[in-house]
Amino acid sequence: GLFGNNLISCFLYKVLLQVQNQLLDYGGSGMSVMEMSHRGATYLKIHEDVIKRCRDILKVPDNYKILLMPGGGTGQFSAVAMNLMGKTGCADYAVTGAWSAKAFKEAQKYGKANLVFPKAEKFTTIPNQSEWKLDPNASYVYYCDNETVDGVEFNFIPETNGVPIVCDMSSNFMSRPVDVSKFGVIYAGAQKNVGPAGITVVIVREDLIGHALPFTPSILDYAATAKDNSIANTPPTFCIYVMGQVFEWLQRKGGIEGMAKHSQEKSQLIYKAIEDSKGFYFCPVDAKCRSRMNVPFRITANVDYEKEFLEKAEKQGMMQLKGHRSVGGIRASLYNAVTLENTETLAKFMREFYESKN
Ligand code: PLP
Repeated sequence: GLFGNNLISCFLYKVLLQVQNQLLDYGGSGMSVMEMSHRGATYLKIHEDVIKRCRDILKVPDNYKILLMPGGGTGQFSAVAMNLMGKTGCADYAVTGAWSAKAFKEAQKYGKANLVFPKAEKFTTIPNQSEWKLDPNASYVYYCDNETVDGVEFNFIPETNGVPIVCDMSSNFMSRPVDVSKFGVIYAGAQKNVGPAGITVVIVREDLIGHALPFTPSILDYAATAKDNSIANTPPTFCIYVMGQVFEWLQRKGGIEGMAKHSQEKSQLIYKAIEDSKGFYFCPVDAKCRSRMNVPFRITANVDYEKEFLEKAEKQGMMQLKGHRSVGGIRASLYNAVTLENTETLAKFMREFYESKN
């Protein structure tokens, strides 16, 4: 099993096999999707199908556009601000981890970005909403649903009195049901839960489209993207096609409810292994906002134990368990494609390692 950060394709063996099968000849066309014109009928059908599946899986209401955009999550840090900040010139940011901190920093280029609570030194919790100071004049309120590096995940949708909510769901996209109607914009880079790196899904309420700052490059402009159904220029056709295959797989695996149940079960196994170790493993995150997707933990007794843990795990096929370079330690990423079996293997290994040191 692999627990690394962008490894969906390593797990989705069946999807990869299907992609391999169709690599040289997609649906009898005699061509690879890679070779096809992005304006030809075959690709256009794939493109439409991917967007429709996304709409079905997340029950996206009709007054929302689903855009497929370049630039990853980082591209959206800028795009969000450029497209939405113009309304009042300011926006509210809830900084709960490394990624929302980056988004906040980027937004300052385009207007006045406010922190809704003071930035913490270490990201281990999400302040209750009663402690948030929202500006009623803000163009939007921004937060990151799951902080990938820190393992901090929201278990509520903030109440913003009608101010549109923008949410980065890059690392927990399609892992639990979400009431899209509560949001102005939801975006997610594909590479954690739904496909290869190279494409970003942006779900945006229609009334928020068309207010971009004048200098916004058209490639990051929601209106220009929507107008051409995300084919204003050559899209990463192969990435989009593979994402469609993942959507199909996800639908076969019980859809969004299936993923929610699955992610709950998996993360509980790892948190339980941490708890049962009586402090040998230590997860710094507050119990109420522990992530189902990324479980960071430390072995505090002896710094060398972490290195040994990682080496032994790797020898047993559990790869890329190293924490993010900015925080160190160990991190198990449990994206949709990680199986319950993979997770049981890791939990068992954690127990054995702990017992061997006690
Ligand atoms: N937001 C979150 C929550 C992430 O986890 C990441 C990357 O890991 C990003 C944004 C940045 O995404 P990208 O690397 O696609 O720019």
